[in-house]
Parts: sequence; C-alpha cells; structure tokens
Amino acid sequence: SAEEVTASYLERIKKSRINAYTTVWEGAIDKAREIDEQGHNGPLAGIPIAIKDNISTKGISTTCSSKILQGYVPPYDAHIIERLKDAGAIILGKTNMDEFAMGTSTESSCYGPTLNPWDMERVPGGSSGGSAAVVAAGEAPISVGSDTGGSVRCPAAFCGVVGLKPTYGTISRYGLISYANSLEQIGPLATCVSDIATLMDVIGGHDARDSTSIKTETVYKDALADDVSGLKIGVPAEYFGAGIDPAVENSVWDAIQLFEEMGASWEQVSLPHTSYALAAYYIIAMSEASSNLARFDGTRYGYRNEGENWHVMASRTRAEGFGAEVKRRILLGTYALSAGYHDKYYLKALKVRTLVKQDFDLAFKEFDCLITPTMPTPAFKLGEKVEDPLALYLADVNTVPINLAGVPSISLPCGFTDGLPIGLQIIGKHFDEATILKAAYSFE
Ligand code: GLN
Repeated sequence: SAEEVTASYLERIKKSRINAYTTVWEGAIDKAREIDEQGHNGPLAGIPIAIKDNISTKGISTTCSSKILQGYVPPYDAHIIERLKDAGAIILGKTNMDEFAMGTSTESSCYGPTLNPWDMERVPGGSSGGSAAVVAAGEAPISVGSDTGGSVRCPAAFCGVVGLKPTYGTISRYGLISYANSLEQIGPLATCVSDIATLMDVIGGHDARDSTSIKTETVYKDALADDVSGLKIGVPAEYFGAGIDPAVENSVWDAIQLFEEMGASWEQVSLPHTSYALAAYYIIAMSEASSNLARFDGTRYGYRNEGENWHVMASRTRAEGFGAEVKRRILLGTYALSAGYHDKYYLKALKVRTLVKQDFDLAFKEFDCLITPTMPTPAFKLGEKVEDPLALYLADVNTVPINLAGVPSISLPCGFTDGLPIGLQIIGKHFDEATILKAAYSFE
C-alpha cells in the first residue's frame, strides 16, 4: 500500500547520514493512507516524491536553504505541486540546495552541505544536491529540482542518477522562487529514463500563471522506444576542453561508440561561441538575481531583524539573512546593471547569449542531438572549492550554454571512475525532448 511504501521511505530517511532533507513532511503518512482509502488511480498514486526547497508547497516550509526564509510557509502550491497532488504523489519533504540555487555543490546551504551518497567526503553537486542525493541513496524514488545553469544535471551526474532540464517554457515556473528566471526550468530526477518521462507527463504543460509557459502536445511516455538507428549525433569539440578528467572523456567516448554500434552515426561539430558562454551566463544570472532577490526585505517573508525604521530593518535583515555567495551575486548583478555599465556588461552578455543560441540552431540543422560530458570531472571533495568561487563557476562550463539557448538536455550515468559516477549529457532541439529521451532510454 501507499502507506507501507511511504513508511519505509520515512524509516530510511530517519537513518540518513547525508543531510539531504531540509524538512520531512509530517503529513506524509496520513496523506498516503488517504490515497489508499480513496483507491486513487492517478499516474503517481501513492508514489513518494522529494521537492527542492525553492518550490512553494502550501503549508510546508520553503526556505531556499537560506536564513532569510526561515519560518516562511507558503500559502499556496506551485503549479507542479498542484499537478503532483492531482496525480496522487505523496510529498516526503523538501530537499537541501545551495542557497537560492546559487552554486554547484550544495555547500552554500544554511543547513550545511549534503553529502554524496557514493563517497561522503564529496559533494553531491548542486544546486539541487539534495534532490539528486535522496534518489541515489534510496530516500525517495523520484524528485524534482530546478536548473538555471546545470543544477539538475550536475547533481544527477555526481550522484549517478538521471536528470532532465526541459526546454524553457515546458514546465510552469509558477511557485518556483526565482533566481534567474530567463534561464531556469524545473526538472525531474529519477533512477531511470522511464520515470523521468512519467514525471514529465504529470508536471509539464501549459499554465496561464507563467507568461513564458508554452502549450505543447508532447506525450513524453511515447518517446520511450529502444531505437537509435539513423540518429545523427553531433559531438562538440569545445565540450571536451582543458580541465576535463581523462576518465570522464573516455567514458563519454565509449558511450558514443555504443550509440554507433546501436545504429546511430556521429560526427564532430563546432559550437564556436562556447568559450564565452560561462561569462555571459554569470553576468545574466547575477543581474536577474539582484533584481529577483530585492523582494526579501523582512517585510513579507520569513526572517525579520529589528530596526527603528524600515530602512534599518530591511538592511539588517538582508545583511544577516543572506549568505556570502548570495551577497556576492547581488552586488555583482547590481553593478552589472547600473547606469554606465549596463551596456558594457549586461547588454553585451545578452548579445553573446544570442550567438550561443545560434551555434545550437546551426548544429541542429545537421544533427538530431549533441553528446557531451555533463561535468568535466566527477564529484569533487567537500570544501575543495569553497574558498574559490571562480573555480566553482568553471565547473559549469558544459551545462550553462544549454540554459542560455533554452534547449533541453538530459544527464544520465555512463560509467564510474574510482567508485564515482560519471554523467553523459544529451542535448536536443527546442521542444524535442522526445529525441533525447529516446536516446537516453536506448542507452541505459
Ligand atoms: N552553478 C550555477 C550557478 O551557480 C547553476 C546553478 C543553477 O542551475 N541553479 O549559477
């Protein structure tokens, strides 16, 4: 029964040593019993799920792993939460993340880092590290995260699970607390591609409350054919650049070889503006963040400090409520948007974004999908990059171009090195999730 399944996950969560949940929902068992009693027959009836802590859940604390949102309990559900509830899913709890989804390691959380279940001295990736780690550790069968520049795919790669960043506009962002809204999408994580498709069929689709939400007729489950014959794969040289771990490189080439054996063909392709993507991404993301995070001033949500007037209260609240990385990004974003620098940084970054997108448009005239490593290395050690934000930003080199272009991309396990999982990234055309799901399904 749903109750037994939920109870067994809750039991496992109790024994956890990886610090992946920020909140375990105390109503889960009652909800499971209710689903049993109703004889609910939705597509996810009785299936427990974990939700990243930046997705609004009515009546369940939602904090973005930030001190500034301590005590905030949303009065409404995000669009995807409404959909998941209708489908019969049971929310187990909220998962740990980098504060406001800014990071690649889940180390900037106010709750402390989540540990990688494969090696507890290593990071699980980020920013949806909790969502990937719970799936890898058997603390939830499926989960959702958000991906602004790799935050679903990076932890999927580091934790050896499957994660999809859908085409921009595919899943409503209503109720997702924005970090950089022109780049981000909610994305599913699971142990297999078919669960990803099932989840997409539930959470994807149009919602009038998100003006960037698009009507699509895709039935993701229909994509799950075991057939890549005739598939034309492009392999972009720029994604195998300096800093790539040889084991990662070999593993991805082995995967490409396997696709060839299964009847696909591949050729090298160049995406010449890739090297500018990282800089453009960070300018755009920080600019949007500086504006999106202006609403956290102690007046409306969560934590509030004292002060003789509003200005003092708001400024103390923000000084104490935000962590170092979030402050760094608000400052840099505010600088990039300020009069006199706006053209030089922000507008320039937007132009580069267009060039990056055009690289993909051109490549997809010739190829059905592109294959690359998701991350240049396997999971790194906890603490290894905390003192060096630039080193951390560099880890995103293969994931951020996809968000700049808005195309879909899936990460799935393709091997191991020293006991650590390696992730393969398959990138598709806008709204062609079907092709990358099919390729991933055939490969796994
Ligand atoms: N690591 C990237 C960043 O810090 C991506 C984060 C994300 O996708 N939310 O911006």
